[in-house]
Amino acid sequence: MKTLTGKDLAAAIRAQTQAEAAAGVQPRLAVVVATADEASLWYVRSIAKAAAGAGIACDVVDLGPGAAPDQIAETLARLSADPQVHGLMLQTPLPPGASAQELAAAIDPRKDVDGANPLSLGRLAAGLPAFPPATAAAVLALLDHHEVELAGRRAVVVGRSTVVGKPLAHLLLDRHATVTVCHSRTRDLAAVTSQAEVLVAAAGRAGLIGAAHVAAGAVVIDVGTNPTDDGGLTGDVDFEAVSGVAGALTPVPGGVGPVTTALLLRHTARAANLP
Ligand code: NAD
Repeated sequence: MKTLTGKDLAAAIRAQTQAEAAAGVQPRLAVVVATADEASLWYVRSIAKAAAGAGIACDVVDLGPGAAPDQIAETLARLSADPQVHGLMLQTPLPPGASAQELAAAIDPRKDVDGANPLSLGRLAAGLPAFPPATAAAVLALLDHHEVELAGRRAVVVGRSTVVGKPLAHLLLDRHATVTVCHSRTRDLAAVTSQAEVLVAAAGRAGLIGAAHVAAGAVVIDVGTNPTDDGGLTGDVDFEAVSGVAGALTPVPGGVGPVTTALLLRHTARAANLP
């Protein structure tokens, strides 16, 4: 079984992004935050650190966990209109009563580097240029990096969220895979997933995918990031059980996560140099 790590790929994307950033106008990413959730704040700090390493300016606009939806919408509209800002993302979770999908409509699609505006998902579904959510793009980047063939192959995505499952299904369709999307109402999940030649788990349920869910030799990408009792992270895939069946499998942490952050920065550098 091959372990599909993401660290080398992430480093290569960051180096390429740094070169792109140095060649043109310095890209600037703004991240709007309205939460006290420690895991979310940790992720924002890791984006800021990676941005600094890639020559990208990063402004964290922290409105605090008590921010009103109007205040968040006004901030996004102001940053969307600011010519100094090239990439804009709204970090979740948000305060009660604030809808990420409704608020993300205030992000200029040309700055929507994490594909959160519903227009971006619509354009993606229509096969038009758009920034896909960085996580969905990271799955494709990992598959490409490890030279996994997609055309004509059976791909199964577990999870149908607008940030991961749905955009990923469109990206896989664009690459001519035969795509099935499973979700919490899917009956007999293992019967469907065990047909997959490429299986992506993005449900947010630790250990959901066991050996019985996986076909011999399948390529398995684990998007899940579930907190463990000891303060660590674990995926949706039971790594030990599945590594005895799969042909290739991503680890958590160290698989999709680092590539996601690197692609967010690449999207920002590209947004800064859009014609
Ligand atoms: P979500 O809660 O919005 O969606 C989960 C999806 O999984 C839903 O469509 C649901 O129907 C499906 N699901 C839930 N339980 C299921 C079950 N028992 N069987 C089949 N399907 C089931 O979550 P999300 O935002 O899409 O995130 C999914 C996971 O990916 C989470 O663990 C999240 O932390 C992780 N994530 C990782 C990255 C990264 O960069 N690595 C980025 C974003 C999200």
